Amino acid sequence: MARLIPCQWRQLILSLICLLLIISCHSSPLTGVKSLKVATDPTFIPFEIQTANGNLEGFDIDLMKAIAKVAGLTVQFESLPFDGMISTLQANRVDAAISGITITAERRKTISFSRPYFQAGLAITVRQDNQDIQDLNSLQGKKIAVQIGSTGADFAKTIPNVKITTFNSGSEFFQDLINGNVDAVISDAFATLYAIKNGNLQGLKVIENLLTQEYYGIATPHDSPHLEAINQGIAALLSNGTYKQIYQKWFNAEPPKLPETP
Ligand code: GLN
Repeated sequence: MARLIPCQWRQLILSLICLLLIISCHSSPLTGVKSLKVATDPTFIPFEIQTANGNLEGFDIDLMKAIAKVAGLTVQFESLPFDGMISTLQANRVDAAISGITITAERRKTISFSRPYFQAGLAITVRQDNQDIQDLNSLQGKKIAVQIGSTGADFAKTIPNVKITTFNSGSEFFQDLINGNVDAVISDAFATLYAIKNGNLQGLKVIENLLTQEYYGIATPHDSPHLEAINQGIAALLSNGTYKQIYQKWFNAEPPKLPETP
């Protein structure tokens, strides 16, 4: 065997370490099961929740694990702020993201989405004693809080003369509304209703009529080799009753029928 000089040894060892790291990230050497790296923002309760001991739970987490199970994959979740999720997918640093992400034409320019897995929509939230904000028109000229990078933030920008304050997560903008710094919040209705009911947010009410109808999808980079398995997984859970079970567990209601495309 040709003799290797020390720097060639170093290179060889470094290359071997890289190879081992790549292999161990993508499949378990014992089982050969492919592991998907899935980004999520655990502030979007009850879709993703970080428990006191650091575990993740929630509707999306249960659904993603169930999809992985039928697809013969394992999931490795990675917590990321919502606002950074699309660029992380674009850079191929994760295989997928599940985080109550609304499927939009704009986002589809840079990432791909699975078939819809949840029917959602934006709602207006105000303080309970507020009488003058009752619909979209009465929001004109008001102070509105939204989450940065969300569909709620995009919607708020279309209302004339509003003053928009942006926050990183739901808990922050609801506090601002309670404190009287803003007049209303525009955010996802389900997460908002859940936060008000279970999150100790007193003195807030959600205006009943939704502003939009949206669908959440699991996001992947364009040309993902996993999108088909994810879509087949969603279809399987919808037909075998698992989707309904997970929906009832978190929302205590019958799920609406989902379309195949948004
Ligand atoms: N559904 C909203 C969006 O996609 C908000 C999602 C979230 O905050 N996790 O913009």
